[in-house]
Amino acid sequence: MSERVDAVVIGAGVVGLACARALALQGREVLVLEKAEAIGTETSSRHSEVIHAGIYYPVGSLKARFCVEGKLKMYRFLDEHGVPYKRLGKLIVATSEDQIPALQQIQDRAVKAGVDDLTFLSHNEVTAMEPDLRCVTALLSPSTGVLDSHSYMLALQGDAEERGGMIAFHAPVEGGRIDEDGIELVVGGADPMTLKATTVVNSGGLHAQPLAASLQGFPAGHVPPQYFCKGNYYTLSGVRAPFSHLIYPAPEQAGLGIHLTLDLGGQARFGPDVEWVDSIDYTVDPRRADSFYAAVRKYWPGLPDDSLQPGYAGMRPKIQAPGTPALDFMVQGPRDHGVPGLVNLFGIESPGVTSSLAIADHVAELLA
Ligand SMILES: Cc1cc2nc3c(=O)[nH]c(=O)nc-3n(C[C@H](O)[C@H](O)[C@H](O)COP(=O)(O)OP(=O)(O)OC[C@H]3O[C@@H](n4cnc5c(N)ncnc54)[C@H](O)[C@@H]3O)c2cc1C
Repeated sequence: MSERVDAVVIGAGVVGLACARALALQGREVLVLEKAEAIGTETSSRHSEVIHAGIYYPVGSLKARFCVEGKLKMYRFLDEHGVPYKRLGKLIVATSEDQIPALQQIQDRAVKAGVDDLTFLSHNEVTAMEPDLRCVTALLSPSTGVLDSHSYMLALQGDAEERGGMIAFHAPVEGGRIDEDGIELVVGGADPMTLKATTVVNSGGLHAQPLAASLQGFPAGHVPPQYFCKGNYYTLSGVRAPFSHLIYPAPEQAGLGIHLTLDLGGQARFGPDVEWVDSIDYTVDPRRADSFYAAVRKYWPGLPDDSLQPGYAGMRPKIQAPGTPALDFMVQGPRDHGVPGLVNLFGIESPGVTSSLAIADHVAELLA
């Protein structure tokens, strides 16, 4: 006989925690099952900690909608919960005349997505703000910021727990079955059990596809393909970056280009780059340094020799194959796959942190 629970969220990353909070706020009984020993040990602790403005994504996409809505919700949430953040603003730079149309396209798209505060700055205006930055022009995005993402996750957890939600750590979901009266989950780990849930949110991040496939009765055709795209970071040592804004080049197909972000202490890091890999592997190959020096020196020629150190890496949970156009977040509810009470979250790559509160509200609505 399985224990009965109302709502189970699989995964205590930033999105799973936001979903647990949203369901708990609706007054539902929520249990989060997390295979690791703590919250946010995978992609949610291996990213840039940037609050994105919502300017890069195709008009009408979930990424555009959730990022813009999520950013507004997030700034409010951070204020209300005392989570540290800084609205530093970001400069997207054209280092040659032929990149200007790409920036123009970003601005046009941003306006259509409801972000109308981007402004073009002349070379002289940029130089007055950031004397060490080399570019012909730049787009200023004033609503971009950085946050302490671990404090943010703790605040989400706190909200969920305050309303009766619980997190079980060391609780890997190993499979399950879709029944007429709910979804049975087999949980392994130190304290194995089976649970029957009315509602399940699969927020397994890099493991969301095998998780969905392990539910007997789930239509296999609804599990999208899975690809891993590593983003490596390098940190700056021995010098301080002479910038007060985040600096981004014109974006590439699978990422936003090797950009400079600052943490809340003003420490610079560069990345993530784009490395398609076959499996999850967080090592940073020191031989990638040359490509980082070359990319960064296009906009910061003064980057000193020997100042970059391999930092860390994150893994983008892609649903599109290498070399093919970027796809949208895939939020699959009962109307999509026909299974009552189940939502699968696939391909929750960037801007997943920024979008987390908006994704969570959408998931809670789908399951209401
Ligand atoms: C390099 C990089 C840079 C990024 N930069 C930014 C940024 O600056 N701003 C931004 O908004 N977004 C950014 N993102 C995107 C953001 O990091 C992700 O969208 C977000 O962290 C995804 O959170 P998640 O909860 O979906 O997944 P995860 O954080 O991966 O959480 C999934 C959780 O599920 C658990 N789990 C998996 N399988 C099971 C199972 N069977 N049983 C129990 N538990 C399980 C895992 O242990 C994990 O804790 C970036 C991503 C990358 C890769």
